[in-house]
Amino acid sequence: MRLFSEKYRLLTWLSILLIGGFLTTIVTSYIVSRNAIRQNVVEQALPLTSDNIYSEIQKDILRPIFISSLMASDTFLRDWIIVGETDITQITRYLKEVKDKYNTITSFLVSENTQHYYHAGGLLKTVSKDEPRDTWFYRVRDMQPEYETNVDIDMANRDAMTIFINHRVLDYDGNFIGATGVGLTLDTMTDILDSYQKRFHRNIYFTDAKGEIKMTGKSMQDIHGPIAKLPGVSAIAKDILNRDVRPTQLEYQHNGATILMSSRFIPELDWYLLVEQDITDDVRPIERVFVINIIVSAVATLLILALTLFAVNRYQRRLEQIAGTDTLTGLLNRQAFEIVFQQAILDSERRRIPLSAILFDIDFFKMVNDNHGHLAGDRILQSIAAITKNAVRESDIVTRWGGEEFLVLLKDCPLEQATALAEKIRSMIAGHDFELPASALHLTVSLGVAEYAYRETWLSFFGRADTALYQAKSEGRNRVIVSRPEATTDAQ
Ligand code: GH3
Ligand code: MG
Ligand code: MG
Repeated sequence: MRLFSEKYRLLTWLSILLIGGFLTTIVTSYIVSRNAIRQNVVEQALPLTSDNIYSEIQKDILRPIFISSLMASDTFLRDWIIVGETDITQITRYLKEVKDKYNTITSFLVSENTQHYYHAGGLLKTVSKDEPRDTWFYRVRDMQPEYETNVDIDMANRDAMTIFINHRVLDYDGNFIGATGVGLTLDTMTDILDSYQKRFHRNIYFTDAKGEIKMTGKSMQDIHGPIAKLPGVSAIAKDILNRDVRPTQLEYQHNGATILMSSRFIPELDWYLLVEQDITDDVRPIERVFVINIIVSAVATLLILALTLFAVNRYQRRLEQIAGTDTLTGLLNRQAFEIVFQQAILDSERRRIPLSAILFDIDFFKMVNDNHGHLAGDRILQSIAAITKNAVRESDIVTRWGGEEFLVLLKDCPLEQATALAEKIRSMIAGHDFELPASALHLTVSLGVAEYAYRETWLSFFGRADTALYQAKSEGRNRVIVSRPEATTDAQ
């Protein structure tokens, strides 16, 4: 019993060590790989996308700024205002030429003096301070820089982003005399957004300075309104709107997914560029590896435990063989018995004294194991060993021959006496209450008896006892069958 519990203690510790070791390695490597992916996305992939888009924007913006600057310093345009804006066809032709040549969607001039708004189609209107659509002109009139960029989206067609360059026009003394410029569509922008969205599954969108969503890629789900009201993003809306022109790394959770974001302020547009990526997909392969590792480790743990159990059992059996006793019942084991057995035969031959053997096997013992467990089975084997030892003389030898088979060697004992003893063992066991934790159990045994015949080999002697036992089983169990020497002689 002690050996038994020590064995299981060893196995328990081994399991704890193996599971602990495997889990630590697996979890650590999972966390490290996950962080590496996260880091790569946050520190490289997203800022790189953001940089590329930003440089595209700068490239696209430079052209209209250049055109507007040319217009504002054009002596014809300035002279035309200074002289008094007399011939409208002249300025209309000029604006139309600019529009056609540079393929802009509009070109315009607003005069400070008359507050007239001219475009390629002629005089459009007179601007007014009270008209919200015209406030830009008064802003440009009072501002320090030479020009401003004003971005608008063509609402009819969400993919077109239109940028207006409003350039101050000065006379030759540096006085403000009007504002001119062009409006251009940043066509390439949406293509870029789309290509990033499709290739890397990154969401890219722009918000204005107040966090109102202004533009998204075509394939991105339709989102609008302020980011402060966007699920998930709302939590970091304040951090986004920080006017920082360097990329800011952010992270938020949405529907159980971790979304990493890079945000930056683009002064030329007065917009924020937000690039975000759901890393769930990137993390999926390492999650798969995680599961595979767990399975492999579980299998390895089970294999190691099984091998250890196997090795310990073998070692235990080896020890038993060397010691000659069976640890469970304390009886002689088979190896030791074979020597005693042969010794007894020799002795019987020399001294001409009878020698008998009883071989018995528990009936339906497999069911006991199946119904009550192996441990209960072991306890019953111990009880049966004890009962048998009690039933025989001190000089008789009781052996655990196999799993639940016992062999009793009776020295100086003729067949009739052995048969009576076998019957006694049978009835003692049949009448015994085997105490189990839950109930009492009744068991029977089948027994074969044989007496050693002169000059017989020990194999033949044992074989006859075994045949008798087999017969007892086949005749209905719980009985004693005697092997008669005459019967064997006939059979041979
Ligand atoms: P039968 O009446 O034909 O003998 O039926 P049985 O169920 O007893 O059949 P059998 O003798 O073939 O089965 C032996 C069973 O005894 C199978 C094995 O699980 C069990 N057994 C063998 N050694 C041990 C042991 O050391 N401890 C326990 N608990 N069970 C054992
Ligand atoms: Mg058996
Ligand atoms: Mg049996």
